[in-house]
Amino acid sequence: MYNEKICSKIKKNMAMFILLFFGLTLILSACFFVAHSDHNCMDDKCMVCVQLYHCEQLVKNIAVALAFLTLGKGIVYLISHFLYFLVSFKNANKYTLIGKKIRLNI
Ligand SMILES: [Zn+2]
Repeated sequence: MYNEKICSKIKKNMAMFILLFFGLTLILSACFFVAHSDHNCMDDKCMVCVQLYHCEQLVKNIAVALAFLTLGKGIVYLISHFLYFLVSFKNANKYTLIGKKIRLNI
């Protein structure tokens, strides 16, 4: 049985899980970067440097994804408000006394 309240709660929990996952990923990557940024690198194929590179790329990718997500949401917000303005401007005369053709006998 489809229940909208349960579906909304599942969506909310999934969003919180994704937010927690990205937040933990960013925090742990930053901690790893800070802890190992000044290690003694003596080899060309250092595994710590490889991990630092992957952490850096992960943080950059998440930052770019969040930027595009924010930009996309902002564009959708602007377009929806612009369309609402156009529709309300077009229908503005329908809800006045003149638009409804109501005559006031004063
Ligand atoms: Zn190294």
